[in-house]
Amino acid sequence: MKIHSFTVQPNLPDNIKFLEELASDMWFTWNWPAILLFMQIDPKLWTDSRRNPKWMLGCVPQKRLEELSRDEAFVQQVNKVKEAYYNYKNNPHTWYKEHKREQGDMLTAYFSMEYGIGEGLPIYSGGLGMLAGDHIKSASDLGMPIIGVGLFYKKGYVQQLLNREGWQNEEYPDNDWAHMAVEHVCDKDGKEIIVEVPLGANESVKACVWRVNVGRTDLYLLDTNLQENTPAQRLITEKLYGGDRENRIRQEIVLGIGGVKALNAMGMHPTVYHINEGHSAFLLIQRMIDIMRERNMDFAQAREIVWASSVFTTHTPVIAGNEHFDPVLVRKYMQYYAEQMGIGWEEFLALGKEKADSATFCMTVLALRLTAYANGVAKLHGVVSREMWRNLWPSLPVDEVPIDSITNGIHSSSWVSHEINDLYRKYLYNGNQLDEVDPSETALWDKVKDIPDEELWAVHGQRKTKLINMARSRLKAQLKRQGFDVMTVNKTSRVLKPDVLTIGFARRFATYKRATLLFKDLDRLDKIVNHPLRPVQFVFAGKAHPADTAGKEFIKTIYNLTQNDPRFKNKIIFIEDYNMNIARYMVQGVDVWLNNPIRPMEASGTSGMKAAVNGALMLSILDGWWDEVGPCDFGWSIGGAEKYASDAERDAVEAESLYNLLEQEIAPTYYAKNDKGFSSGWLALMKKSIHQIAPVFNTNRMVKEYYEKFYVGANNFGQLLSQDNHAAQVAAWRKKIADNWFRVSVTDITTAFDKAILMGDKVHFRARVFLGALSPEDIQVELYLGTRGALGGIQKEDAVDMHVAGNDGDAYIYEVEISPFNSGRQDYALRILPACDKVPNVLTPFFIRWEE
Ligand SMILES: *Cc1c(COP(=O)(O)O)cnc(C)c1O
Repeated sequence: MKIHSFTVQPNLPDNIKFLEELASDMWFTWNWPAILLFMQIDPKLWTDSRRNPKWMLGCVPQKRLEELSRDEAFVQQVNKVKEAYYNYKNNPHTWYKEHKREQGDMLTAYFSMEYGIGEGLPIYSGGLGMLAGDHIKSASDLGMPIIGVGLFYKKGYVQQLLNREGWQNEEYPDNDWAHMAVEHVCDKDGKEIIVEVPLGANESVKACVWRVNVGRTDLYLLDTNLQENTPAQRLITEKLYGGDRENRIRQEIVLGIGGVKALNAMGMHPTVYHINEGHSAFLLIQRMIDIMRERNMDFAQAREIVWASSVFTTHTPVIAGNEHFDPVLVRKYMQYYAEQMGIGWEEFLALGKEKADSATFCMTVLALRLTAYANGVAKLHGVVSREMWRNLWPSLPVDEVPIDSITNGIHSSSWVSHEINDLYRKYLYNGNQLDEVDPSETALWDKVKDIPDEELWAVHGQRKTKLINMARSRLKAQLKRQGFDVMTVNKTSRVLKPDVLTIGFARRFATYKRATLLFKDLDRLDKIVNHPLRPVQFVFAGKAHPADTAGKEFIKTIYNLTQNDPRFKNKIIFIEDYNMNIARYMVQGVDVWLNNPIRPMEASGTSGMKAAVNGALMLSILDGWWDEVGPCDFGWSIGGAEKYASDAERDAVEAESLYNLLEQEIAPTYYAKNDKGFSSGWLALMKKSIHQIAPVFNTNRMVKEYYEKFYVGANNFGQLLSQDNHAAQVAAWRKKIADNWFRVSVTDITTAFDKAILMGDKVHFRARVFLGALSPEDIQVELYLGTRGALGGIQKEDAVDMHVAGNDGDAYIYEVEISPFNSGRQDYALRILPACDKVPNVLTPFFIRWEE
């Protein structure tokens, strides 16, 4: 049976018709006056619609719309928001316009499997999606030409429903495009754009493209749920991370390969491609195929262009968190593409294998091999990633592995409460509600200290009350659903107290995040929670991955303690179905944000940044972004950076540290209240924390950093290599190096000194270098200075280029003179690197020769 449908649009009176436009741009998600408009229309519908104005407008009775159009104050507000919206869209002075420094025109295509833009668009699961959403929003705020590419899932990400025993059950709500802020992308004749994506040689799937407006930028989502596809194909984009391994690879082909095809079909020509986590790395393959065809190039040449203009961000230090596929499965789908590129299957497979004998094809490896710019998402994660992937750069010292770090951030205006934001506007920006501000302008935050304690405390109190009310009504609804009697349900009004120190913990229940650490010693926790003078209460939330039984056990354990243990009932609570909305209430309402993963497994973490910009203080393991801040005097660090002999020992030491901090530092500071009812010591910490954290850990700073460090270079090198025959030259250079590298060697390094060297003396170095068929232009010889490591390597302190001073038979003589910069013993080594000024990074080709 074929079912047809049609959609009836609400008929908004002319003077409030703008609401329709507003509802179809996710800009509203970070503009409180816009949100307020929708709330005023019908607060209950607003909540029921999951804050999706497009859906809501379709449900508001015509009578109510007429009524609003006669309400002068409302119409005035609509006009104000309209003006602000158009000012935003048309602002000629964006950061990008004033700081643009790349050659030509950049367009960055940002690919991600998930996006957390707003609750009404549930195509996210956790931190990765939040980051992607915040990246796009900051790109919009900065006016930077970045577009997002992702998938449109038929079902929203899993909703969590706890049963009476605290076991997590799951539901998947339908995403109905007719009621969401998405629109079909059509070509200039008004025909829907459909791309066809081969799934191996014998199958292909069609995908349509949806556009989501996000302020000044757009997000494009591919969707295979089309009549013309087979039922199995229609399910490819059914669920985020849904299905088996085979469906996953099909999803990733649709995202990566389909994404590039969709951009082509829309007539867009990005100059930079940013791969946010390995899922979308197949885009590199399609780009090479396109370039080979369009420019009549071979694989090696196309690879140079793609490599030079691609950026890759890795997100997880957990090996299993990196996407690995069985080569048999990869072959089924990708051999077809290998043939298009004219390379053999083994050569293709090698692109995704960490080592020659690796058993799996890893998307992270594929991305690292084929992108010139790569990064981890915090400094510590950079260190961990370089260590983790050093096998791809054999013989390169680990510090030099070209995986940089750019620390994550948050889109501040999406996460800061409007109450606190009003204070910021009053004291920091002294401006009007609708001005644009850039949170990464550090000087702004110097005025945090001018906010009067009373005001900051009062506003914080309001948000805490809102959190408590939200928690109570959520629990009430939950208990009702679970079938409890009215008496029990009504007792939820006793949950949490507004004047008690409140600590929040919310995150995915992956076991490494150790949600149960706090519960290690229940007697100790009892004393903390029920302290006669300084009680503490806790709010927990988080989902486990549907297949993660261990994570679900954690939830069950905590839930049962909160429900059945009289010591903790009403004082420790678990809120069901963690999502952006609950996250917002929590980060805006708690006093302290708790984060206790196993170091260094939390690549960055961002929820703490959200809490900090709202004035909550951090209580965290020195991991992820917090490792860049703590230990400090405006938050607390649990444990240190030491390594432990066992998991049990680590948990014991860190739980002890956590309890001690709560008992001896946090509670006493919080409860040192003055006659105005607050602790001025605590307020000072809040202000210092905001001042130190808010200007740095936001996505404006982050996106600027991606621009400066990566996008400009990727754009410029990509364009350079696309011109004339540069790509061919670079490919030829690389082949020449590869063919001749085995002949390259260094011998007879000598230092010319016959007496003791004094500080300030010059030291002369000289070496014989054999280059075989290579010439000095193809390589560079480096004198590498440092200290000898325990393992025989050398810890780099400096590297100096040597220059050719002549020939000696078939060898070149290289020389350099330096003034030692330290006294004491100096170690040095000599190495040869390839050299070429047309590539962004010579370390990647893996050709390094040390003196033997
Ligand atoms: C911020 C956020 C996350 C990520 O938080 P982490 O600190 O990385 O655990 C996950 N889910 C939601 C709903 C969020 O708002």
